[in-house]
Amino acid sequence: MAKKDVVKILRILMKKTMKMPLPSVSQIQEELDDPFKVLVSCIMSLRTKDETTYPTSVKLFKIAKTPKQIANMPLAKLKKIIRPVNYYKTKAERIKKISQQIVKDYGNKVPDDFDELMKFKGVGRKTANIVMTYGHGKEGHIAVDTHVHRLSNRLGWVKTKSPEKTEFALKKVVPRKYWYWVNELFVRYGQNVCNPISPFCSKCVIEKYCPKIGVGKRR
Ligand code: SF4
Repeated sequence: MAKKDVVKILRILMKKTMKMPLPSVSQIQEELDDPFKVLVSCIMSLRTKDETTYPTSVKLFKIAKTPKQIANMPLAKLKKIIRPVNYYKTKAERIKKISQQIVKDYGNKVPDDFDELMKFKGVGRKTANIVMTYGHGKEGHIAVDTHVHRLSNRLGWVKTKSPEKTEFALKKVVPRKYWYWVNELFVRYGQNVCNPISPFCSKCVIEKYCPKIGVGKRR
């Protein structure tokens, strides 16, 4: 697909998704404006629905909001607070460990460096890219989750088998100044229209540009 068509689609999605709910991690950033909270809620969001991640994040940050406060919190208490999210035991251990490392090695601040973020256990490319983009407001990253991976392939922008490959392939297709927006637009659109199973192609605003690659049942 030509880059001008990619831009056209992204611009249509910018208008269309404006009123759709923000992904939980973006909502946390918009309301609380803190890369540490973005990092913690992103870890909590893995394999957990936004409807659970958001209130659990808010609850945790009412009790402990800084790396130091979470580093000093008893693990059992942290597990109890974040219990609604999936894999809460492992996530609590990782969040506490990362908080301790941020206090000890990074002067209480989440590093604004992709490679440093990747050193934390439990932080993969998606989380590191989200923290860089929405936590630190840096351009030059595309956070690829399941929605971004699915939409990019359905639209024929990439032909990839894994989110990691999608990230690199997308960077060749999407002009750099739009990288910042890709995650938020595709997550919103993927949650509300281009669902994993039976997407709403009949009411899709980019339907005429979409070859619907790999799409079976649709509405
Ligand atoms: S036409 Fe269907 S498959 Fe393509 S983006 Fe729209 S909802 Fe998704």
